[in-house]
Amino acid sequence: MPIYEYRCQECGTPFEARRSMRDADTPIACPKCGSTHAKRGLSLFFASGSSGVIKGASGGSSCSSCGGGSCASCGGH
Ligand SMILES: [Zn+2]
Repeated sequence: MPIYEYRCQECGTPFEARRSMRDADTPIACPKCGSTHAKRGLSLFFASGSSGVIKGASGGSSCSSCGGGSCASCGGH
C-alpha cells in the first residue's frame, strides 16, 4: 500500500499516511490540529517504485544475457 505525504494547509504540519490508492484523494485529518485541509504531496512508494531505477541501483542480480530479473526469457547462464 502506497505511503502518501501530506501537508496541513492550516498549521503547515507535514505528515504521512499509508492509504489505498482509492482513498488518496479523500480528505484526511491533520494529526496536530484536526483540519482536513491537507494537501497531498508525492507518494513515497511510487517515487522509488520504478523497476528500472531499482535494477540500476542495486545491480548484481540481473541476468547478463537478457538484463531481466529472472532468466525465464533467455534460459539463464
Ligand atoms: Zn494542521
